[in-house]
Amino acid sequence: MEALIGVLAGDGIGPEVMAEALRVLKAVENKYQHRFVYEEALIGGIAIDTHGNPFPDATRKLCAEADAVLLGAVGGPKWSDPDSKIRPEQGLLGMRSAMGVFANLRPVQTHPALYASSPLRSERLHGVDILVVRELTGGAYFGKKERTADSATDVCTYTRMEIERVLRMAGELARTRRRKITSVDKANVLETSRLWRSIATELYAREYPDVQLDHLYVDAAAMHLLSRAADFDVLVTENLFGDILTDEASMLTGSLGMLPSASLNAEKRGLYEPIHGSAPDIAGRGIANPCGTILSAAMLLRHSLGLETEARAIESAVMAAVENGCRTADIALPGKAAVGTRAVGDAVLQALGA
Ligand code: NAD
Repeated sequence: MEALIGVLAGDGIGPEVMAEALRVLKAVENKYQHRFVYEEALIGGIAIDTHGNPFPDATRKLCAEADAVLLGAVGGPKWSDPDSKIRPEQGLLGMRSAMGVFANLRPVQTHPALYASSPLRSERLHGVDILVVRELTGGAYFGKKERTADSATDVCTYTRMEIERVLRMAGELARTRRRKITSVDKANVLETSRLWRSIATELYAREYPDVQLDHLYVDAAAMHLLSRAADFDVLVTENLFGDILTDEASMLTGSLGMLPSASLNAEKRGLYEPIHGSAPDIAGRGIANPCGTILSAAMLLRHSLGLETEARAIESAVMAAVENGCRTADIALPGKAAVGTRAVGDAVLQALGA
């Protein structure tokens, strides 16, 4: 297969982790006889420095043309003045809305080799395999905002169309898994949640009768994610709740550095990125964990290019590298020396047999 992949390394550790993900993608290309064209563009702080714009026209054009986009991370202290009118994160929001990626997918899987890196007891971690589907382009993040000296307002709006499309995406994904969906809302308090719940009830009964649906209030979901995480399969929710629950769920797996994400539009063209930020505290030292970005590349192959076998091969290779003790400082075992970013890339390539 041939594909154009947009490569946006960004700031801080972004270029370091991206370099390893690209080595892995190139190895997959060779091993499975594909041809990927990689086109690089600037985003975030480095784009502000170069073009005065965190999402320059050339980057916008690439995002519109590419089959999928792989992103490192954006931001850093150099650009974090809260009074500044131009900020790196605007590049991310601009890109998400330009690509129309309304569903953010975050898989949360636990693995015995990483139990020791989680703050939770290992008996809570057995068999956790959750896919969180977060609505990404609606809700309070995009509603009207007002501010006076003594009051502030963030409007949270959802339309039927916005709710239905993300619920359908979750329904399709549930069919590739254990066919269980938990829809998370706050329908005892919020009008948007009452609309969300009634649409979910109707839509799944009508279009996905083979999928089992449960509803949970977000406060209960936050608790159940820590007490009975293994019971969840697909968890679908609105933008703000999803933002909070996915960070909470990441703690089940051990480290921020391990987790990938995909943001998809209706055509399954997507933006793929690790869930961590630019980690300015460790940038430039070659010690960042590249696994979240490498696993994001695996999600890219699965969701945008339909290459399931190749995606699984990368996922197995990453876990083999970790099991073999090739671990950066964030997941290092007590008394064992941590390895660097490049060494993890080497171990993944070796496990891949490429
Ligand atoms: P962060 O995720 O960058 O770092 C949090 C902590 O986790 C740090 O101690 C960091 O060293 C560690 N960490 C993160 N990724 C790691 C990795 N791959 N390997 C090892 N350790 C890792 O979050 P932050 O410190 O709150 O934010 C730093 C900057 O990143 C800010 O400018 C923020 O706006 C930006 N940010 C960007 C994104 C994104 O690009 N999507 C997401 C979150 C934060």
